[in-house]
Order: sequence, then C-alpha cells, then structure tokens
Amino acid sequence: MNEPAVSHGPAAYAVFGNPIKHSKSPAIHGAFAAQFGADVSYRAVAVPLEAFEEKVAAFFRRGGSGLNVTVPFKERAWAMADSASDRASKARAANCLIPLEGGGLHADNTDGLGMVRDMVINQGWQLAGRRTLVLGAGGAVRGILQPLLAERPASLTVVNRTAERAQQLATEFADAPLSISAGGFDSVAGCEFDLIINGTSAGLAGEMPDLPEGLLSERCCCYDLVYQSEPTAFMRWAAARAAWAVTDGLGMLVEQAAESFYLWRQQRPSTAPVIQQLRELMTP
Ligand code: NDP
Repeated sequence: MNEPAVSHGPAAYAVFGNPIKHSKSPAIHGAFAAQFGADVSYRAVAVPLEAFEEKVAAFFRRGGSGLNVTVPFKERAWAMADSASDRASKARAANCLIPLEGGGLHADNTDGLGMVRDMVINQGWQLAGRRTLVLGAGGAVRGILQPLLAERPASLTVVNRTAERAQQLATEFADAPLSISAGGFDSVAGCEFDLIINGTSAGLAGEMPDLPEGLLSERCCCYDLVYQSEPTAFMRWAAARAAWAVTDGLGMLVEQAAESFYLWRQQRPSTAPVIQQLRELMTP
C-alpha cells in the first residue's frame, strides 16, 4: 500500500477498509470540497488486515487531517482511539477518526446520524411515535440504535437470523429510556410496524430475510441500508406489500460522509446535489 503523502499539500483525508475498491467516498468528499473551493485530497486505501493500527498511526504522523474507516476495521478504530463520542462508544465502533489538538485520536460514529438525517430531512419521514422494526444485529445495526432511540420511536424491535445476537444487542442497550424487544424473524409474527429498517447484508447476495407476512402498517416506511443500482430485494419485498414509502441507503452514505466532513472542517456541505449526482451515476 502507498501511504498518502500529506506533509505540505492539500488537507489530506482518506478512508481505510478492506476491500475498498468500489468506495464512493472519494467522489463524495471531492464534491463536498468543491462546494467550498477547499484544497483537499481524499483517498480510498486498502489496508492489510494485520496492519490497520500501524497504518492509521502513520497516516496521522504524516499530517493526515481526518480518516474514515469502513469494514472490517470500525471496531478496531474505536478501540485504538484516545477518546470517543457517546454514539461511538455505544456502538463500540467508529467510522470517523479526528486528530486531537494535543495529540491522540478522537473516534466518532456518524452512520446512525446519517441514516436518521436521510430519513427525516431528505425523505420527510417522521420517526417519533413510530413502531420501529430493525432487521439484523451486525455492526451497522449496532451503529444506528442510539441515534434511532434519540428520535423517540413508540417501540423498537430488533430481529435477526441468529436471535441471540439481537438479544445480546438489546441487553447492551438496557439502560436506554425505551427497552428494545429482540428475537428471531418469526418472533414478530402478528405484529405491525410503521417503520422497517433492513440492516442485514442479505441484499448484497440478492436475498431477503425470511419474514412473516402482515408486518406493514397502512403508512409503513421501509428503509434498506444497502444501496444498489437496482431496487434491492428488501425494497421489492416492501413495494410488493404496498409500503407507503421505500428507499435505499445511498442518502445515508452521503449524510454520514457530510457529518464526517463537518467534524473535520466545521463546514456543513449540501448533500442533496451529491445524492442526486451519485444516483444518476448508478442508474443503469
Ligand atoms: P455484518 O456482517 O456485521 O452483519 C450482517 C447482518 O446481516 C447480520 O445480522 C446477519 O445475520 C445478517 N444476514 C446476513 N445474511 C443474511 C441472510 N441471508 N438472511 C438474513 N440475515 C442475513 O454487516 P454490517 O452490519 O456491517 O452491514 C450490514 C449492511 O449494512 C451491509 O450490507 C452494508 O453494506 C450496509 N451498510 C450501509 C451503510 C450506508 O451508509 N448505507 C453503512 C453501514 C452498513 P447473522 O447474525 O445471523 O449472521
């Protein structure tokens, strides 16, 4: 891997992951920087699994101004930081590292906030008072639970193929003002929801979690964290059940990037044109 050369050039940012080849983050951050006429470089860097901590330290030693972290390094990014936001600590994972003035690194997790902003601001969905169902109990779901709870849903249920992982998550959030119900997919048979969020990676293989029928209320909104050029299996499932609104996670991707950009530069980019630009590029 070539380490970004960052000593006296533009402010240097990067995303570290493995694999990273198809990352849209350089294009997104390039578009944000252009909005402010900022001299910024942003690279996607494939980091060997065994070398993550060493590469992060080297990046900041060489003057890096901020780092995004993606699969499979988010937990390790949080673990190696000197301080962390509440939402990153609750998720035990970070997608954003910020250099501290006196040295050291601060960890944050902007994924959940990005999702909530996409739902509330871009889609115009109301989250307060909604009976909310989350599918999946992996890293992404861990990251969205606290920002979701902050929106005060009427109830929050997490179901997963491996029921124990959902139950474990509910236990970890036991101190939240709202207690999370958890179980396997069939545990929600006979229940109705106003918001269903797919946080499984099933869609990457074109699959749909094996859910009972009758889950969607009359005005149910359905959100897939996965984004693809075509509607995902979950989006097709929701549309076939007359969901009131259905969307994918492209807006979340751009919003989490915008929050990172803000944390690093205290400048809030305009996200709508960037989402539209990416959508056009992805449309077959
Ligand atoms: P993990 O590998 O940590 O978790 C995967 C989850 O999907 C687990 O709950 C797993 O269940 C479940 N799962 C996998 N395959 C199936 C299947 N065939 N049927 C039912 N459940 C299945 O992944 P992440 O949590 O990190 O990511 C989840 C998705 O969210 C990814 O597709 C990722 O691309 C997307 N994402 C999108 C973001 C965005 O900005 N839009 C940001 C972050 C993530 P089990 O526990 O039983 O194995």
